[in-house]
Formats: sequence, structure tokens, C-alpha cells
Amino acid sequence: MPVLPSSTPERELSEILRDVFGYTEFRGHQQAIIENVTAGADALVLMPTGGGKSLCYQIPAIARQRAGRGVTVVVSPLIALMHDQVGALHEAGVDAAFLNSTLDWEETQDVERRMLRGEITLLYAAPERVTTPRFLSQLDGLHERGKLSLFAIDEAHCVSQWGHDFRPEYRALTVLHERYAGVPRIALTATADALTRADIVERLQLEEARQFVSSFDRPNIRYTIVEKKDPTTQLLRFIEREHEGDAGVVYCQSRKRVEDTAQTLRDAGIEALPYHAGLDAAVRQKHQDRFLRDEGIVMVATIAFGMGIDKPDVRFVAHLDMPKNIEGYYQETGRAGRDGAPADAWMTYGLQDVVNQRRMIDESPAGEEFKQVMRGKLDALLSLAEASDCRRVRLLNYFGEHSTVCGNCDNCLNPPQVWDGTDAARKLLSTIYRVQQHSGISFGAGHIMDILRGKATEKVTQFGHSKLSTFGLGSEFSEAQLRGVMRQLIATGALSVDAQAFNTLQLTDGSRAVLKGETPVLLRESVSSPADRKKSRRDKPARGAPSPAAATLDTAGQARFAALKAWRGEVAREHNLPAYVIFHDATLAAIAERAPATLEDLQGLSGIGSKKLEAYGADVLRVCAAF
Ligand code: ADP
Ligand code: ZN
Repeated sequence: MPVLPSSTPERELSEILRDVFGYTEFRGHQQAIIENVTAGADALVLMPTGGGKSLCYQIPAIARQRAGRGVTVVVSPLIALMHDQVGALHEAGVDAAFLNSTLDWEETQDVERRMLRGEITLLYAAPERVTTPRFLSQLDGLHERGKLSLFAIDEAHCVSQWGHDFRPEYRALTVLHERYAGVPRIALTATADALTRADIVERLQLEEARQFVSSFDRPNIRYTIVEKKDPTTQLLRFIEREHEGDAGVVYCQSRKRVEDTAQTLRDAGIEALPYHAGLDAAVRQKHQDRFLRDEGIVMVATIAFGMGIDKPDVRFVAHLDMPKNIEGYYQETGRAGRDGAPADAWMTYGLQDVVNQRRMIDESPAGEEFKQVMRGKLDALLSLAEASDCRRVRLLNYFGEHSTVCGNCDNCLNPPQVWDGTDAARKLLSTIYRVQQHSGISFGAGHIMDILRGKATEKVTQFGHSKLSTFGLGSEFSEAQLRGVMRQLIATGALSVDAQAFNTLQLTDGSRAVLKGETPVLLRESVSSPADRKKSRRDKPARGAPSPAAATLDTAGQARFAALKAWRGEVAREHNLPAYVIFHDATLAAIAERAPATLEDLQGLSGIGSKKLEAYGADVLRVCAAF
């Protein structure tokens, strides 16, 4: 066996980056990670979505295969995406394959035979397959012949119950370490709060692995959180104003909300598709394929959608309902703007979200300790939503990173008015107290606000609540203001909602400090109406507008770009792959700008490796020559 990999020169790794993938520079920690793993050491990689994790195991896999080390096994939970992932490697000229239930018997046999000969460079399989006796005995054979090169464990946070995608099958992956002690492992994830990270290390026995933690900042994503009024209409305005014709993802909590929202968007002429676990697997796959392959589709989905989706030009991720915690929020919003061009993370948030999330925790069958952790995580997200200072500073702080104000979130761009709600909060709590004393039962938010604002509704009269000393005491506050106060009181635990008793409000231990005026309550002035907000950041023409990648091209360049896109669409359809797997928009824009006349002109453009140059160079020149 050739001596290597510990002596693989840096030059060879850079050469693979350039020749196979068509990129000139490593990003962030990529180089250190790749050198480390190529040399046969374990690694744990924490990098935000879009940071470039795939190359961290693909390049070592290629280098080690060239050195005669054999097959890299990529453990990935995403059966539905393996076809595209492997297709992308084929496009780059890398020998890759997958094993999953979509293959028939003969195809499976063929892949297994090639794997056993040690020919395949990257083999993708789901954890439940990797840990079967059959697969393990095949790995034994490979290992005996020195052809088991590396394990890459993608989406490693799935091993942790603290993560948001817990998959028990991941726990069984410890067998890889136990059975093939000398084979290096690289685990990768975009989720990285300290708790999940520690859990990955422990569960996957990666104590010896070197950890590579990247900055989690995604500077091109603009974070916006608005108060929820009529979320579907707010969403529609947001899309019309900022993202006409763009691809995006809209997250909703329930299947019904997914269906309704998708319908509303379609009625408004937006190409929207639903995706949730209640749909047929075939329908889900079809919608996912359309999202990946067509342009400008809006996917309306539950959190069942999105893991591993590497579509680079998703221009916005919207949340109509609040997720469970910041990890989930960050993971989901991170699916926007992988290509580095401007993108939006936009969420509507209201009292009901707070109530729902708290209730889901309270009613879950989990143990008290677990619930406590979940409550803490929810609180962190609530305080992000209530914040009137830079969202990004808070987000990054949650992941243990210190940063300065970003200038690219709603609060930085339009600093919200802050008002002192302490007085309103005290009046609210004292009304709740008096009502409870007077009637012996608790009431919901609407009724309490009516009393405080002095509205003699039927219910107020019926219960004699107009005689309470706080009746009409808060007539100067608007309902929106009081809702904001209540939301924050609930968010901070100074008030609780009893889900078992018609969402009635209850005082808590935390109420006392607010009642006594010891805890100030500061609130952001509601910024719910999109019309109030600053004008759209880009004066964007309607549908068919150039992608951000092509924004700087002159007229002839735009024409070349459009022609290249049309050509790319045909190739992608022929190969049954998403268009961006052939070339990214950014690559097409670079080609259009250069107006190449010869193959040499194409060399060195980002995203054109030697295989793609050979396969598509002549076609690209022909398309460009027409202008
Ligand atoms: P992740 O898995 O971390 O979300 P990917 O591996 O999908 O990210 O990479 C995100 C995008 O960045 C991909 O389109 C990839 O081709 C591109 N990319 C990765 N590394 C580099 C690099 N060194 N130079 C240029 N582009 C890169
Ligand atoms: Zn900011």
C-alpha cells in the first residue's frame, strides 16, 4: 500500500479542490479539517448550514481513495436526497453510490459488488442500513482487505435527544467505532448549542476527536420577527413586497395550517406546494423534487421538510408559527441563502405561540428534567422574539459567540420604539388577582383586558366585574399594548396560562416582583403592519428578475445568463438532477460576464472543475457564441 495519508501534501488537497470541484480557496476551517481527516484522525465539525461541510469529507474520501485506502461510508438520514447528492458527485467525476430502498435487487447487488471491490469512493447509506448485520459483515470484509477508508456521519445532531431531529438509529452507530477502531470518523452538524455538542461527543464516542467550531454567523441572512396579526395575509404581503418569483420555504406548525396557507398562496398566484408527514410519500417526493428542480417554488411545510436540502438559492424562510427553540429556528432559517446572496428569515410571533409551545411541553409525556431543559430553550427563543436590540447578537450569543450589532436585522434597521409597560403589567396582574378573589375562578386574556380597559361587555356585567377597583383603570392602553404586556409576562414566567382550563390566566411566583414594581417590564412598540415598515430593500422588478448572482451584468451579459439558464435547465432535466447540481447561478453569472470564446476562458471560473469543463465546456461556448 502506498505510504500516505499522513504525508499527503497540502498541494494535493488544494489540487482536488480546484480540479474536481472547481474552487480556488478553502473556506473557513475546511483546510484544517480536510488535512486532519485525510491523515486519519477523527473530527467533529460544527459549521452553519451553507458553510461547506460536504467538502470536509468528500475531499478526504477522494484523497484516501487515490492512496489506495478504499471506500468512505457516508451515514446520512436523508434517503430522499441521496440520489441528488450522488448525482452531484457524478457530475464532478467522483465515483459515488448509495444503498437504500429505492434501488431494486439488481442495482443493490451491483453497488454492493463494486463496494466490496473497494472501487466506490463515497458510499451513502442511512444509519438503519449501516447497522444491519448484513451491511456490517460486508464492512468486515472491506476492513480485512484494508479498503474501509473513512466514516462520515452527517447530521450528527440526530444522535442527541436535545437536538431537534432526534433519530434513535443514530445511537447504534457506536458500533462503527467499536468494530473498526482504526478507521477514522468525521461527524458533522449545523446544530451546536453546548448541550447538543456534548451529547454528540458522548453518544458517538468522539472524545478523542478534534473539534472544529466555525462561526455560526450567516451575514447575508436578514432576521425579522413581526407581531402576529393575520399571519397568512402578512406572509402574502411579505412575499409580494420582497420576494416575488423567489424560491422560499414557509414553516407552519400543523398540517392543516400547511394546507390552508399553500392554498391561499396559490389563490394569490404564487406557486406554492404543501409538504407534511400526512401526505403520501410519493406526493412528498414529488413536491420536494419540484422545489429542487423548478425555479421560484414556495414550499409550505411542517418541520418534516428541509433537513439536507442543499438548494443554494432559497431566498427566504418564513415561520408562521414559532419553533420550539433557537436551534430549530436557526437550522430552519439557515436554509435560506446558502449561495451567500441576500436572503430573509422572517417570522410572525404572537401570544398564542407562547401558549401553544408552553402547553406542548407541559403535556408531553417526557420526564420533568427533560421538560425543564425544554422550557429553558423555549424561554431563550421567546426573549429573542421580544428583543428590541440586535437579533443577530442574541442569536450568536446563544451559540456562545460574541458579536457586535449587525446592521442587517429588523431591530438594527428600524430600531423599535420601546415603552415602559411596568405600570400596565402591574394593573393587569392586579386585575387577575382581584377577579380571582371576587369570583373564585380564573378568566382568559380577553376578559381581563376588557375589565382593565373599562369595557362593560355582557360577561363583565354578568360577573359583576365592573365593580372591581381596577375596572377602567387601564383605559389609556390599547388592546395591542396589553397583549404585548401579557405576552411578555407569560414569556418571562410572571404569568401562566392554564391549558387544561380554557387558557385561563394564573398568577405565578414570578408575578409578585412585577406587582411590587421590582421587575421592570420593557416592551417593543408593536411593528406588526408591514406597511409601516421601511420600503423594500431592493426595488425588485417582478417575476423573471435576475437572480442576485446576475444583478451586476450588462444587457448582453443578462442575455447570455438567461440563455445559459435555459440550457442548464435542459441538461438538468436530461440528467434528472436539480439545475444547481449542473452549475450554480453564480457560476453561470461568472460565465456570462466573461463572455468566453475558448475553453481556456472558462478555466479557473468558480464551480467549473475539469470534469464539468470536459462535459459542458463546448456547449457553454456554443450558447455564449449566439450573443
Ligand atoms: P453545508 O453542508 O455545510 O450546508 P455545503 O457543503 O452544501 O454546505 O456547501 C454550501 C455551498 O458552498 C455549496 O454550494 C458548495 O459547493 C459551496 N462551497 C463549499 N466549499 C466551497 C469553497 N471552498 N469554495 C467555494 N464554494 C464552496
Ligand atoms: Zn442586528
